[in-house]
Amino acid sequence: MTSRADTVRDASRCPFCPGHESDAEAAVEERFDDDGAWMARAFPNRYPMTCEVAPEPRREGFFRERNAAGRHEVVVESPRHDADLSDLTVDALATVLGLYRARHRALAALDDVRCVLLFKNRGPRAGASLRHPHGQLVANAVVPSLVRRRDAVAARYHRRHGASVVRAAVEAELEAGTRVVASRDGFVTLCPYASSRSFETWVVPPAPWGNFGATPDDALVPLASMLGETLRRVRHATGDADYNLLLREPAVRAWGGPWAQWYFEVQVRRGGDAGFELNGGMPCAVIAPEESAEALRSADVL
Ligand SMILES: [Zn+2]
Repeated sequence: MTSRADTVRDASRCPFCPGHESDAEAAVEERFDDDGAWMARAFPNRYPMTCEVAPEPRREGFFRERNAAGRHEVVVESPRHDADLSDLTVDALATVLGLYRARHRALAALDDVRCVLLFKNRGPRAGASLRHPHGQLVANAVVPSLVRRRDAVAARYHRRHGASVVRAAVEAELEAGTRVVASRDGFVTLCPYASSRSFETWVVPPAPWGNFGATPDDALVPLASMLGETLRRVRHATGDADYNLLLREPAVRAWGGPWAQWYFEVQVRRGGDAGFELNGGMPCAVIAPEESAEALRSADVL
């Protein structure tokens, strides 16, 4: 988070707008257009969710704790305050994805990093405190529990079936067809069987790239084309609802494994979880994924 108290909607006070660079931390990496103006820039989060202290566990009487050791960076995706990732040209979006890939690689190469979380919050219901388009990377010295659980399921599926569970799911979705939104250059956009929320949408790449840093150069433009189109479909079909964009990938120790596969997941955020979800830990999609996929297919965004 940049700051939960900071709800800057006004470009004149926005620390991510051109001319206000000194209001944010110094850039660690940038991309420029032909005129020398920045298109995208990465810098440490001024209000990091991580610290640089070792994560050894400690006891506080009954309680146990450890530091959230790691690094937390922001990637500003456009100089335009009111833009969305889906508004960018394919080439500009490919440039932004290239910067994300570079920062992913740089953070993953640091000592003790065991997991990289890459995500984007769009709108206040998705947790965004600043309107200006940006995403975040958090490199962790511990593996978060959800990532551990997902990796355990994928490893177990591979032991039993000798296949990647993500690729097997995509094959099954392509065969069924009803939840597939688009398929191009090997990339597949779909609303998964038993989606956790209405309009949950995945963008899955054509090859078993175990982590985002392994994405080859020649995949950035087709990925940008498919991801931008997918986000436009979601915004159109949901009346421009707030959303989170999540990179799903395994913990670092599994990146070379036979089941490792990254993909993007879009979660539309129209309201908070209700009592059923909070009490049972069981998500509930009000709109079935088959209906979500049909609405996304019908969205006039091309
Ligand atoms: Zn701004």
